[in-house]
Amino acid sequence: MTLQPLLDRIDLEARRLFGQGKVADYIPALARVPAERFGMAICTLDGGLYCSGDAREPFSIQSISKAFALAMAQQRYGDELWQRVGKEPSGNAFNSLVQLEFEQGIPRNPFINAGALVVVDALSSRLSAPVHAFLETMRLRAGNPALRIDHKVADSEYEHRFRNAAMANLMKSFGNFHNEVDEVLKAYFSYCALSMNCVDLARAFSFLANGGRCVVTGEQWLPRLQTQQLNALLFTSGLYDAAGDFAYRVGMPAKSGVGGGIVAVVPGRFTVCVWSPELNGYGNSVAGIWALEELSRALDLRLF
Ligand code: GLN
Repeated sequence: MTLQPLLDRIDLEARRLFGQGKVADYIPALARVPAERFGMAICTLDGGLYCSGDAREPFSIQSISKAFALAMAQQRYGDELWQRVGKEPSGNAFNSLVQLEFEQGIPRNPFINAGALVVVDALSSRLSAPVHAFLETMRLRAGNPALRIDHKVADSEYEHRFRNAAMANLMKSFGNFHNEVDEVLKAYFSYCALSMNCVDLARAFSFLANGGRCVVTGEQWLPRLQTQQLNALLFTSGLYDAAGDFAYRVGMPAKSGVGGGIVAVVPGRFTVCVWSPELNGYGNSVAGIWALEELSRALDLRLF
């Protein structure tokens, strides 16, 4: 089956789901995003690109940034990183605090907020300008030097930072946070507030489908083993406490964000990014999940 007609059909049908979810509004700057949008882009390992709908409209990548932050931390810390953050599914909401108290300030995995905060804290200890380094990495990997951070979104998150600040402070009380809480929060919000479109994201994540080699730059960006490990964690925790259902329905590693984006990986074949801002109760895009399930079914993409 050729990809373009399939994407066009999925685009048409996914739009029928408009109205079934709710745009994230706990970050006021995100609440202003138009709800009725749907875009999809596939980047194949030979550099082929297939798009539909609003694939070129930028959106806030939010938690999708956590996968890249982890890759950057894996490069700098290797397995030492796992002394500070776990590898287990949390079974709780992405912004939950409850397990931190019981587990001595060690977050369950790097894709819930607490885990990503520790990862950004770790990066802040090794990088003099962690936001600049992240932005430059994303620009290179996406092949788009025009990528920018939406400071309105970052400022809005900082203004409403209390839950994330509580997590960071709790982890600091357990000795698992080494830099100034406020500085790390600002860096973390800047990562989340990066604006990218589906094409940028499908390209930037191509290394995950390609054994660590970036399709855009051709460089081996992450060692093969760490790439496999990152994919494994995305499979078990990339969609927070809905990761099991996603694995069952779609069957591939993926990372979502409350901006409505989801990036999924078909190792050896392609990366796909889908975006639609209306979310379900887990903070995952309603039309996005449906579209990935449909793509997976049509192309028989489930890994197992
Ligand atoms: N910046 C958001 C937060 O900290 C990211 C959450 C998400 O995308 N799940 O709450």
